[in-house]
Amino acid sequence: MLGRRVHIVGGGPVGLVLANLLGSYGVRVTVTERRSEAELSAHPQAHFLSSRTLEIFSSLGIADAVYRAIEPVACWKDFVYARGVDDLDPIARYDHIASSVYPLSPIAPPTDHLEATAPTLDSCDHSHHGIHDTLVGPDASFLSSGSLQIAHPVHFPSSALMPMLLERLRSPDVAKFVDLRLGSEVASIDDAVQSVGASALGDDVVVVAADGAHSTLADEAGSVLVSPDPRFPAGKALQSLINVHFFIPPHAVELAHPAMLYFVYNPEFVGVLVAHSLARGEWVAQIPFFPEWQDLSALSTTRAVTDAVLAAFPAARASGRLTRAHIDVRSAAPWSMRVGVAGNYAPMPGLALAGDAAHQFPPAGGFGLNTGIADASNLAWRLARWASAEADCTQLAPSLASYTAERRSAAQAAANQSMANYERVLAVTSAVGLSPGAASMAQSAATALPLPGLLKNVIFDSSVRAAKYAALSSISPSRAAAVRNLQAPAVASG
Ligand SMILES: Cc1cc2nc3c(=O)[nH]c(=O)nc-3n(C[C@H](O)[C@H](O)[C@H](O)COP(=O)(O)OP(=O)(O)OC[C@H]3O[C@@H](n4cnc5c(N)ncnc54)[C@H](O)[C@@H]3O)c2cc1C
Repeated sequence: MLGRRVHIVGGGPVGLVLANLLGSYGVRVTVTERRSEAELSAHPQAHFLSSRTLEIFSSLGIADAVYRAIEPVACWKDFVYARGVDDLDPIARYDHIASSVYPLSPIAPPTDHLEATAPTLDSCDHSHHGIHDTLVGPDASFLSSGSLQIAHPVHFPSSALMPMLLERLRSPDVAKFVDLRLGSEVASIDDAVQSVGASALGDDVVVVAADGAHSTLADEAGSVLVSPDPRFPAGKALQSLINVHFFIPPHAVELAHPAMLYFVYNPEFVGVLVAHSLARGEWVAQIPFFPEWQDLSALSTTRAVTDAVLAAFPAARASGRLTRAHIDVRSAAPWSMRVGVAGNYAPMPGLALAGDAAHQFPPAGGFGLNTGIADASNLAWRLARWASAEADCTQLAPSLASYTAERRSAAQAAANQSMANYERVLAVTSAVGLSPGAASMAQSAATALPLPGLLKNVIFDSSVRAAKYAALSSISPSRAAAVRNLQAPAVASG
């Protein structure tokens, strides 16, 4: 070693995977993370982890623990489209595992999962039609030959993953190389260099901006995300959502089918629920809102989000089995869905971007975290080589240029696929009868009226409510059939 070190700014899942990889290669690494340990593990976001992510976890020695911790695949192989989570006659059901081009077998016991699962490249960077063609070309027949074995993807919340990554970082073999600074913030690129006692970026330190979607360091370096789709510029939110993490007693609701995602359409609730654990009754609700027209502080009170959640379980609410008192809201936070990929993952000599700092996608398909973890894996060996005595400093720039080339094309493919998935979700919303343009129409109507701002907001709210009542009070059999046709042949009726 030549006294070179890596400073990772941001100890989210991508930063911690990178720190683990570097620590296991014997590279001196500092991780600075603004949040506390408890905060890092509090609110589940990403939850679908791809085969490639599990392979990387296998190399870190944590894949078995993840496989041991998940619920059986039958609990999360479906997406359900319904009037409520507890609709006993859902509109449609979609098996997203069976829809993989290369079918997966049930998850095998942890000790031999790599040998026993069926091959599937479809889930290697994802589990959706088309992505394997984009990444490796249509002739992937060698995958079904049985000669290549690939790890099974899982449904596992990032909040449960974070303690595992932290624990491994503290294991004696890794901890001796790692300086973990939780509850501490980096203000600028200079600060990132100086706070680890280094002298010059790219000389004795490489800084990795793993500081997420609102990356301070990427901004300072002039990095901008570019959307692959001109209809959706990267700076503009595709949708704003309140993300509510809550628990309910598992037996308070009766489900027609266990599922990973419930797309709920009723006059009082339109949104998506993620079942993080049916056994523990742990859920996340993603509820769309319109920041220009609705008051976030009023919508995100515990009372308001509890009522919203209750409306997603209309049968249990009507029977009295689920009441406000049963819903234990742990947190509610807004977030904005965007799409974009940075033009250069090394926007300054000695600075590399990884994870959401380099790319953002709609969550449909679960590409965000998986793409970020693959960035970390691609970056780790390059930084380990730079940090080793064999490599001279001039090798860093070309190595980071090829990091950009390799990871940017993967991010572009993920952006395209997640946009296609997002448009499929919008198509379902239209098929049930609720035009995705209803909100813009309400917006235009409210804007046109010569009224004070607050009254305009009331008009907007009432118009959106009226549109939901008109469209969703009863979903006709022909509309339900249209939803099923959208997913055919993979959709089974409820
Ligand atoms: C509702 C939702 C559902 C999602 N579902 C999925 C899914 O199923 N699968 C999937 O792959 N992805 C999913 N994603 C995306 C996924 O959560 C992100 O892609 C992932 O968290 C990105 O990881 P990251 O480490 O790059 O960034 P982050 O998780 O945002 O972590 C960045 C960290 O940097 C810290 N930080 C920021 N600035 C500073 C600073 N100046 N100094 C110190 N620390 C700083 C922050 O506190 C934060 O902890 C989802 C996202 C959302 C919002």
